[in-house]
Amino acid sequence: METIGVNSLIQSERELLDASKGFILFDSDLKVSAIDGVAIDLLGLTNQSVSGMLLSDLLKKDAFNILLKYTYSVIQEGNFVQHELKLSENPVRWFKVIIYPIDAIHFSMLFLDINRQKETEAALFRHKEKFNVLNESAAMLTSIKDPKQLLDSLFCRLSNLLDLDIYINYSWDKEQNRLVLTNHQGICKEEAEKFRFLVKGTAVCGTVAQNKERMVFEHVDECGNELLDLIRPLGIKAYVCEPLLSFGELVGTISFGSKKRSTFTSEELDLIHSICHQVTIVLDRMTKVDELTQNTETLEVANLHLKENERKLRLIIEKNEVERESKTKTNFLAMISHELRTPLNSIIGYSQVLESDQKDPLTDKQKSRLSKILSSSRHLLQLINNILELIRIDTNPETIKSNVKPIRIKDAVWDSLHSVSNNAKEKGISLYIEKDVEDITIEIDPIRFQQVMVNLLNNAIKYNKKHGTVTLYWRVDGRYLAIFVKDTGIGIPQSHQDNIFEPFYRVNHAIPGVEGTGIGLTLVKQNVLEMKGTVGVSSIEGTGSTFWVKVPI
Ligand code: ADP
Repeated sequence: METIGVNSLIQSERELLDASKGFILFDSDLKVSAIDGVAIDLLGLTNQSVSGMLLSDLLKKDAFNILLKYTYSVIQEGNFVQHELKLSENPVRWFKVIIYPIDAIHFSMLFLDINRQKETEAALFRHKEKFNVLNESAAMLTSIKDPKQLLDSLFCRLSNLLDLDIYINYSWDKEQNRLVLTNHQGICKEEAEKFRFLVKGTAVCGTVAQNKERMVFEHVDECGNELLDLIRPLGIKAYVCEPLLSFGELVGTISFGSKKRSTFTSEELDLIHSICHQVTIVLDRMTKVDELTQNTETLEVANLHLKENERKLRLIIEKNEVERESKTKTNFLAMISHELRTPLNSIIGYSQVLESDQKDPLTDKQKSRLSKILSSSRHLLQLINNILELIRIDTNPETIKSNVKPIRIKDAVWDSLHSVSNNAKEKGISLYIEKDVEDITIEIDPIRFQQVMVNLLNNAIKYNKKHGTVTLYWRVDGRYLAIFVKDTGIGIPQSHQDNIFEPFYRVNHAIPGVEGTGIGLTLVKQNVLEMKGTVGVSSIEGTGSTFWVKVPI
């Protein structure tokens, strides 16, 4: 490449560039051959003579070091390089530096002032950040449900953007007429304790609460305002406090402070104001939702109580109805039974008279028929007596006096066997008492005991097989006497064994010639319970049953 004189190079470069751009011409040894007047101005140089100067003499060390590698790249490769560079901090000066070859030995370093562009970019960035903060805070406001967490998150986002170090949130306590420190960050616990409560008109927050107007303090460290006495020791330089108002009513205050900066721009104050406004709406909504939830919970509890009471009332009404119904039935049954017993006794009495009349003896046919009348009447009388006994125990247990006295079990059992012996004889059933039973005397109600034994023995005879046996035995087991009535009868299916003690429950309805009412075992159970004992059965269908009664001794 042909080389031309430096002056003509300057001339041609100057002609190519507009007045805002300055340039330095240098050679491959980084020796400066010329510097343009504009460049002298832009770089703030005083010395206009460049003779013998190197590129490093014109540029600050940091800037030169950065540009050096680009310069070598241009010298070696012959290419074109551009780079944005901050050449000074105070005042901030941004340049676009373009380095390119002019001919084989000359190179140009072009300086373009891009300060304005950088300021615009910074302003744009701040706007974008503000927009982001507002956007993010809107998202936080709708998603975060805990007030402290919400304020902490907002503060974290704001503090990054605005260089904030502290936030203080007071709630207005209407009843106590004072501000209560609710949330804060950047202050240690001990410090926070000092201003836990504030009355209206004191310090910055109290004054903001009173006037319901924002207060901004700049250069706090240099300002003597006594409202700042609490804040100043925290090292805060710029401080802003916003009132939190809901429909014009004070709900609290939020303030922000910075230890690094002394002022806020109006743009920043606007941002803080917008966020505080949103926060108020959300905090207010949270309080209302809280109140609503509490009211709902109270209502739910009250509702549950109401339902429970309603259920109890219904149970009482139902129980009363059942009791009334049962009482009416019982009274009716008792009345009918009494009314039936009188004529029945006459029938039995007259039948017996007829049966034993020697003067006018009955024919055999008449005797046979009369015997059926007598048998049916006695059966009916037994049924009526059983029903009356059942009602008596059921309705007035206290009227049954317990007549406990010492009895010899052997004697009592013999008495019972004696009462059923005719019955057994008629059916061809043999009755036994086991030989090795203990001869024991216990305190017991003999009438109840008798009733229980006779009922069990009669059943053992009634439900026995032809020529069957009934065996009685007892054992003393600790503090109990257990008596067993064992038969060789038809047995009771397992599925019925739990029910046979219920009133009117019968298993063998269909067995011809076996009469019954289904009351006997109910009376047995009630009598045994009266004696504080228990009763039960074990049975194998077709083989026989063993009923047992266990009473305390
Ligand atoms: P009832 O004998 O008048 O029917 P119970 O209350 O005395 O009434 O007995 C209830 C039912 O239990 C009887 O109908 C019968 O089916 C059954 N049962 C009672 N004792 C025996 C027994 N020893 N063997 C077989 N079944 C019996």
